[in-house]
Amino acid sequence: MLYFIDVIIPVPLQKLFTYSITPAEATFLKIGMRVAVPFGKSKIYTGIVAKIHNEAPTTYEAKDIHQILDEGPIVNEKQLQLWQWIANYYMCTLGDVMRAALPSAFVLESETIIVKNTKTIDETILKDDEFLVYEALQHQSSLKIHDIANILDKKNVLPVIQRLIEKEAIAIEEEVFEKYKPKLVRYVKLHIKYASESALENLLNNLSRAPKQHQVILTLFSISATTKKPVKFADLTKESDASASIIKSLIDKGVLEEYFIQTDRIQYAGDDNEDSKKLNEYQNTALNEIKESFKEQSVVLLHGVTSSGKTEVYVKLIETVLSTGKQVLYLLPEIALTAQLITRLQNYFGEQVAVFHSKYSSHERVEVWNNVLNNSAKAQIVLGARSSIFLPFNSLGLIIVDEEHETSFKQFDPAPRYHARDTAVVLAHIHQAKTLLGSATPSLESYFNAKQNKYGFVEITKRFNDVLMPDIELVDIKEKQKKKLMKGHFSDRLLEEMTETLREGQQIILFQNRRGFSPIVECNTCGHAPQCPNCDVSLTYHQYRDQLRCHYCGFAEVMRKTCSACGSPELDNKGFGTEQIEEEVKLLFPNSKVARMDLDTTRGKYGYEKIITALEQQEIDILVGTQMLTKGLDFRNVKLVGIMNADNMLNFPDFRAHERSFQLMLQVSGRAGRTEERGKVLIQTYNPHHNILQQVSTNNYIDMYNEQMNERYNFKYPPVFKQIKITLKHKDYTKVETASIWYAKSLRNVFGDYILGPESPPISRIRNQFHKNILVKIPKKQSLSKTKEAIIKINNSFLSIKDFRSVKVILNVDNF
Ligand code: ADP
Ligand code: ZN
Ligand code: ZN
Repeated sequence: MLYFIDVIIPVPLQKLFTYSITPAEATFLKIGMRVAVPFGKSKIYTGIVAKIHNEAPTTYEAKDIHQILDEGPIVNEKQLQLWQWIANYYMCTLGDVMRAALPSAFVLESETIIVKNTKTIDETILKDDEFLVYEALQHQSSLKIHDIANILDKKNVLPVIQRLIEKEAIAIEEEVFEKYKPKLVRYVKLHIKYASESALENLLNNLSRAPKQHQVILTLFSISATTKKPVKFADLTKESDASASIIKSLIDKGVLEEYFIQTDRIQYAGDDNEDSKKLNEYQNTALNEIKESFKEQSVVLLHGVTSSGKTEVYVKLIETVLSTGKQVLYLLPEIALTAQLITRLQNYFGEQVAVFHSKYSSHERVEVWNNVLNNSAKAQIVLGARSSIFLPFNSLGLIIVDEEHETSFKQFDPAPRYHARDTAVVLAHIHQAKTLLGSATPSLESYFNAKQNKYGFVEITKRFNDVLMPDIELVDIKEKQKKKLMKGHFSDRLLEEMTETLREGQQIILFQNRRGFSPIVECNTCGHAPQCPNCDVSLTYHQYRDQLRCHYCGFAEVMRKTCSACGSPELDNKGFGTEQIEEEVKLLFPNSKVARMDLDTTRGKYGYEKIITALEQQEIDILVGTQMLTKGLDFRNVKLVGIMNADNMLNFPDFRAHERSFQLMLQVSGRAGRTEERGKVLIQTYNPHHNILQQVSTNNYIDMYNEQMNERYNFKYPPVFKQIKITLKHKDYTKVETASIWYAKSLRNVFGDYILGPESPPISRIRNQFHKNILVKIPKKQSLSKTKEAIIKINNSFLSIKDFRSVKVILNVDNF
């Protein structure tokens, strides 16, 4: 009998590839294990076994696999089920999903680099083919697998490479077969021979002439007596005030012994667990309603105003689920995953909390992956961003999606373009678990689903501790300008409130929707604005580096002295960003400590955290920031929030702009006055009568919802209609135009009026590629899967037209 496997490899192929295996391999292999497989002329990939069977492929001859990489599955069947759903729903390949799902350390590829080993070896032990490779490496610093295949003139070179590694003749730079090595922490203990009291007494007597060493031994005892845990080398040095060399000499003498315990990088360093808080009446009611609702619904939306104590309600639910022995996934937008929340949860749940975050290293992610896979006690609760839906859960009981309205849950690029909230609902379904969506400003999608009774619905309308919702005041800056009451970008009202707040020793947050100093530079003489050479956008000015930069492709050049069109030296800054506000604040309030939080100031692993901590510890009086400020932060002393300009959010060319503006402004307002005193929010605008601003100032979600839903009905937008955006890209404008007209026409033949476009997006050229968008609107009663089938058919015919083959097509389901 012949044996075959279907393998998922991380390349965008429509079908899985079939490989042939031996009967022995067939008995050993299981679905979800990794194999190294050859692909194409010379590539090797790490693949995941998706199916084991006996049917030879009909159109090609199955190749043999190179090697089995695991002893057991690293991906379980529930995950494969989710991958399949994502591939179908978001119209991408399983390979795309695999690449997004696995930590990169798991998917090392053929581009492995072979290098010379520093050790000299006896060349006579090498066989002929081995020697050829060895020889080649004496002349070249590195070789790739396919170079070696060329040198040896054969394809399957892994056994040769393997033998060379065993003989220590070569090394691998990026090892395909490297096993993940946990970080080792150094511990010390007293040698066993001093276990008896008399031996110990002797030792201490002997050491009386060496007071420092004596001190080390006493400290060792006191640490282990208080912590009742193994003593770390580092702790002993610190506590005993002795140098590492003194401890080392005790180890050398055989008095102390050093040893290692494998430890996780991501570690909980807190003290004993705290009990969860006693809920107030509103929270309690909400908790009971959620539990009640879960009896019939698998998804519940919790709409709780900012600072109503939603987190504490989640904590109670988590406790209930953990007691049934099931795992919990707590999803948050990347940026909201702060030390603040991590600590808060670790205080309740200690080591059971694992954190999964894109800023963690690949090693750290592998660690969490393995802990989840093994259902380890250390990963009963996973707190993670978007991609943590891909972890190998085996028995999920609950998924919490906090800040569910956040658009960053949708992956924009590359494929899979999935929405983590919606995918979480499917993941929960696979595990027969429950999903709780939480927000102070729910997405229209989720609120709509709740209204349609697809989701359960629970509300908390009061802030915790009866703190009042902040007082929101709209400031008409057109009026203020007329009356000459503006200083730079600050109205007299804002300055008054800021002065008052600072006098009371309270803190201020200023929100500006853009980053950079002064986004656009314009010539006062001819009106020319410097453009990015690769994209269809104006460059923005960054004062800090005195540069003009493109926010789309990263292009940068030194700020110009004169206009490149007319030569005039009068270049002016239009618009304003966080950097400029910061400058102005520093001049207006020279005695206050001012900081800025935006993409530029929060690079690096802990950039964001440092600023938050500084604000918490009141080292900052005034913080100027972008949307990063809005994400679920709980500050104690922020009394005033100033929104510098509401209009640039409202005018953004997107059908969700009004909904987003409402959410952003209410979320940032929610940072004000979270403790006793009522917070104050000032919103500066040219249009104080704009409905959204009226709704924000009265915290009227329902009015916003009804009005926006009306628009969505009228213009056939989500959540009333579903939509798929098709983007075509090419560097030749005429080609992409012809192609997109063909594409749209074919779609219209099937879907008629529900096709919009092709249209050039507001920024029609990015990285030298021209873009065209086509929108497919899908009424609720039209079958989504049939629609997708039709699109795929059209897409395939499109790709078969020779002239269009170089045009890149991107399908984005439920686009944002
Ligand atoms: P939300 O997530 O709804 O914005 P939080 O859960 O952050 O609100 O709660 C706001 C503040 O109130 C936090 O500082 C939290 O510790 C506190 N808090 C909430 N519920 C309770 C409770 N039951 N007992 C004591 N403090 C609470
Ligand atoms: Zn650019
Ligand atoms: Zn000019």
